[in-house]
Amino acid sequence: MDVFDQIHEAHHEQVVFCHDEESGLDSIIAIHDTTLGPALGGTRMWPYRSADEALIDVLRLSEGMTYKAAVADLELGGGKAVIIGDSKRDKTPELLRAHGRFVDTLGGRYITAEDVGIGVEDMEYVYEETKHVTGIRSTPHGSGDPSPVTAYGVYHGIKASCRKKLGTDELKGIRVAVQGAGHVGYHLCENLASEGAVLTICDIDDERVRKVVDDFRATPVDTDAIYDVNCDVFAPCALGAIINDGTLRRLRCSIVAGAANNQLEEDRHGDALDAKGILYAPDYVINAGGLINVYGELVGYGIETAKEKARGIYGTLLSIYDIAEEDGIPTYRAADRLARERIRKAREQKLERPQPVAERA
Ligand code: NAD
Repeated sequence: MDVFDQIHEAHHEQVVFCHDEESGLDSIIAIHDTTLGPALGGTRMWPYRSADEALIDVLRLSEGMTYKAAVADLELGGGKAVIIGDSKRDKTPELLRAHGRFVDTLGGRYITAEDVGIGVEDMEYVYEETKHVTGIRSTPHGSGDPSPVTAYGVYHGIKASCRKKLGTDELKGIRVAVQGAGHVGYHLCENLASEGAVLTICDIDDERVRKVVDDFRATPVDTDAIYDVNCDVFAPCALGAIINDGTLRRLRCSIVAGAANNQLEEDRHGDALDAKGILYAPDYVINAGGLINVYGELVGYGIETAKEKARGIYGTLLSIYDIAEEDGIPTYRAADRLARERIRKAREQKLERPQPVAERA
């Protein structure tokens, strides 16, 4: 497919191909939509086999960021950057600075952050060249570890899902199987246990499992056994693509609701969950607490305001479940529909607003 065909397909606004001779940087920055605000999304470094593969990824990821910000009701658009290369071998301060200079040329239309292959410490080099960076320590409003806010949002998302599927949002006695006892998993268990939920936990790291077992009286299971646990909620908080042909036939839950990104291996697995009568909380909706936390850096609010905003995930999910029911579509499609609707309304409002003479000239 021709490059412009690819750009037109999902209505991207701007795609910038960058090359820096000195550092060897080859990167692509994609701005999907800025109707709601500047396009925010991380920079990923990955050894793509071709420029086309990198382009497909950056277009897909930036579009996803638009939807994520829109359903989280943030004044942000969607963007993403990819650097082509092996982060273990090719990443240098010069390359990161060169990336920062390209980000800066966009004048704040694109704001970056860390992502796969690019850590907080790498972002410090990017920040030397542009102020349009979030999620680092040295900015005046650095928001720190987003996991507690993410977990808090997931907790409220689980409550909303229980209300829809089980008729109550009280979690006392509700059985939740949590996959992954990392940053988000641990804090999620803390929230769930505080309300009396009954927890099952697994992780490849035994130390992390032990901590959740000791702190919240969770039952440990082997990592592969988590899919077979008879429970109300399966909460994936470790890996992507864990809803797939292999796991789908094993799940014995009523709800899938967790923090992990890209839980559906393919869209059709979202259809299959729906067909099995399992309620799926779309991942990018329920895990938006991290983005909400980062957004706080831009508008200058702290953790309590971020948590308050993350509580909104409860109502957003209920709206999505209503759309899914009314339109007879799976929830992951209903989430996209809600996002598009919010953007469409914002675009119409912008058009209705009279423009200042200087802008019309
Ligand atoms: P983390 O690395 O702190 O935790 C992940 C945990 O999963 C680790 O303890 C790891 O040992 C465990 N794990 C790895 N493979 C496993 C397996 N096969 N079975 C069971 N456990 C396994 O990461 P995190 O920050 O807690 O994020 C968890 C997920 O949530 C990721 O998919 C992440 O992309 C997503 N997410 C996180 C945030 C955030 O604020 N941290 C925000 C949005 C989405």
